[in-house]
Amino acid sequence: MNQSGRWKRIINSMHFRVLILLLVIGLVPVFLMKRGILRGFEAQTVSMRASMIRNQCSRLSADIIDAGYLDSGSSDVVDKELNQIAELYSGRVILVNGRFRIIRDTYSIDEGKTVIAKELIECFQGKDTDYYVAENDFIEVVCPITDDVTKNVVGAFIVSIPTTDIILARRNLSQSVLIIEIIMVLLIIVISFYFSRLLVRPFGKVTAMMNSGGTDFLTDDISIPDYTETELLSEAYNQMRHRLQAQEESRQMFVSNVSHELKTPMTSMKVLSDSLIQQAQMGEVPNELYQEFMVDIGEEIDRENKIITDLLTLVKMDRHSPDIQIEETNINDLIGLILKRLRPIASRSGVELALESYKPIIAQVDQTKFTLAISNLVENGIKYNKENGWVHISLNVDNTYFFVKVQDSGIGIPAEDQGQIFERFYRVDKSHSREIGGTGLGLAITRQAVLMHHGAIRVYSREGEGTTFTVRIPLKYSEQETAES
Ligand code: ADP
Repeated sequence: MNQSGRWKRIINSMHFRVLILLLVIGLVPVFLMKRGILRGFEAQTVSMRASMIRNQCSRLSADIIDAGYLDSGSSDVVDKELNQIAELYSGRVILVNGRFRIIRDTYSIDEGKTVIAKELIECFQGKDTDYYVAENDFIEVVCPITDDVTKNVVGAFIVSIPTTDIILARRNLSQSVLIIEIIMVLLIIVISFYFSRLLVRPFGKVTAMMNSGGTDFLTDDISIPDYTETELLSEAYNQMRHRLQAQEESRQMFVSNVSHELKTPMTSMKVLSDSLIQQAQMGEVPNELYQEFMVDIGEEIDRENKIITDLLTLVKMDRHSPDIQIEETNINDLIGLILKRLRPIASRSGVELALESYKPIIAQVDQTKFTLAISNLVENGIKYNKENGWVHISLNVDNTYFFVKVQDSGIGIPAEDQGQIFERFYRVDKSHSREIGGTGLGLAITRQAVLMHHGAIRVYSREGEGTTFTVRIPLKYSEQETAES
């Protein structure tokens, strides 16, 4: 197998797909987890920092109100405390009065200026506002100064602090998480490999078990109950194996039957010719004896010839795409012709032939094969009959099918043999059949010919009383229809 073929095989394998699935299921949460942890940490730290500032500001607001700082702008205590907060967070604290004027700026830059910002307006309306700008690395907290008596917001703190320490802590955390992440990724890869192998292993077992038998169909049934699918697969395989086994047995049986049947006339001929040679060695062979033996040999050759002809007919019809010459045919006329041909044989055996046909029938059939099928049935009716017996053939038709019934007053077929008479070389009474020139292939040919027309054949018989064969064939031949027996 070339390189691209190998890759295609790997990519198409169930093992590979299960592996990818497990990796995706395992790794996606790990990557999301890292993002989640870092973001959560940052948000949590920022909000803690903001709430600490808020606490400190609200504690300080009481002092500011008490000292009237918003009006006078002077109080050493308040100044000190404001500077303390600014120093603590290495940031900037701005104090704004009710008229949006900056009373105090720990950076002493904007004092006396008026500041109007959205957050500030919201704060005066009673809302707490934190403002975190990650890109600029600082937090801005706007915190109200509320008059305890009037409950009015009389001023506000604007505290801006850098988040350098938070960013640093985040970076450290990110490194630790990365180590955990790498360990987890490796672990997930190993686990995914292990489980993907484990999950598809039963399918490997099925293949191994199927291969273990090689071409020998006589090995045991396989059973992999690990999954429902593998169980179904094993069952399907076993069924297929049984079918092939049955086919193989029937093929072997057929070959051995063929050899046996072909050998029998040969053996007779050998015996006849040997005895002629032997007699010739002992002296003059009488002319009559010579002639008698030659007639016997001729008969054996005829028999051999008939077996071979029948076999060839059967094999031709057995092919998967048998050639069938369908023609619109007048069935009444065709059967009339068949009977005309068989009448001399029947009268030689003292058997009366009669045809009953109720309606004219036009159907699509292969005339040669249909003739073969019906001739075999009528011939059998004559062959396996009694003295002064009869064979009645009746024809009937409905909208879809036509029916041929061949009924005889013959020896009948024992119930236990009726199921097998359509098999090749099956004969109820081997010696009797041979005596009257049967090959055991006639009914197999008939059945095959009927099946090729998508028809059906049935036998009804009572030993000693007679036999009836009924054939049902569709009036219109269709390529697709499945055959039934
Ligand atoms: P054969 O060449 O021996 O007649 P067939 O395949 O035509 O072979 O028939 C198989 C066997 O079925 C025959 O050997 C015979 O025993 C039995 N059989 C077939 N048709 C009849 C019948 N009409 N009456 C009695 N037995 C029959």
